Amino acid sequence: MTRVYNFSAGPACLPEWVLKKAASEMLDAHNSGMSVMEMSHRSSEFKDIIDTCKARLKRLMNIPDEYEILFLQGGASLQFTMIPLNLEKHNVDLINTGQWTKKALKEHEKLGKVNVVASSAEDNFTYIPKIKQEDLSEDSDYVYICENNTIYGTKYKELPPHAGKLLVADLSSCILSERCDVSKYDLIFAGAQKNMGPAGLTVVIIKKDLIGLADEKTPSMLNYKTYADNDSMFNTPPTYAIYICGLVLEWLETQIGGLENMEKINRQKAKLLYDYIDASKLYSNPVVPEDRSYTNVPFVTGDKDLDTKFVQEAKEAGIVNIKGHRTVGGMRASIYNAMPLEGVEALIAFMRKFEEENYNA
Ligand SMILES: *Cc1c(COP(=O)(O)O)cnc(C)c1O
Repeated sequence: MTRVYNFSAGPACLPEWVLKKAASEMLDAHNSGMSVMEMSHRSSEFKDIIDTCKARLKRLMNIPDEYEILFLQGGASLQFTMIPLNLEKHNVDLINTGQWTKKALKEHEKLGKVNVVASSAEDNFTYIPKIKQEDLSEDSDYVYICENNTIYGTKYKELPPHAGKLLVADLSSCILSERCDVSKYDLIFAGAQKNMGPAGLTVVIIKKDLIGLADEKTPSMLNYKTYADNDSMFNTPPTYAIYICGLVLEWLETQIGGLENMEKINRQKAKLLYDYIDASKLYSNPVVPEDRSYTNVPFVTGDKDLDTKFVQEAKEAGIVNIKGHRTVGGMRASIYNAMPLEGVEALIAFMRKFEEENYNA
């Protein structure tokens, strides 16, 4: 068996500790004589799994009691619809920082009014537009951001001003990668497949007083209240995804020692890679340094054919899924929590060798 270094943006690599534990419990989980996949979601064994998962997330992220944690399906993308449906406030100030806010914009517009307060589109989303309170619309209900832009490799280091308005944030590709002051947000959501577990699970962390505002005609399955009232088990939840997410959270708590330690490791990984890229003659990262993501690092050689050769040869060297998003080209290294420091070191060693073989100054 050979494990590769998987730099995929999502579904992404999982900690080996998690995969081994899941493997060891595959035939008999929690002394049930069956795998978690085969368990009733109403069983006491599964209730323990989902309750523990929720409690660990609350502990790790220090989530205040005024917030509810919901386990949903439909990906981060369904939240582009569920958020405006549920907040029953349809007047949004959105900051456009790439593909994921554009997609959110398209869905929000079907239900209400969206004002794009700022956008970095004209510079191919290589920075995070900084806004002032007075840039916001007078009558908007919430400010919508994507905190880490998975495709373009940008990240908010400071949240935008939003006095008198709710703050709604897509944390799909940065949740659990660093400490997070949940009290600064009104609604956080994330698809699990980047940094929390497998695809199929979406986590929403929402202020409790924002639950139950949806119009009564809102379909039950699209109403946060349905999930809040039923411990996220109105219908069959994605049981196996919740179980693996629980193991990822257990790994974060017991093997890493919490988000402060995770943040240190992630900063170290990102610094190593950006420092190498900035010092190299062949590679470059287009993002303004202060807005660079810690989890998604795009880079190019400036020559499309050479980029293709890089991706090909990297694969042969056990460095996979390093191709950049089709809208950006080049390469992208997603270095979420589960990518170990050794993986980033192996990538840099490969980049150095490739540069020596292919670049003549
Ligand atoms: C991947 C991603 C999404 C889309 O997630 P799905 O679960 O595929 O719907 C949305 N926002 C961000 C920031 C992402 O990285």
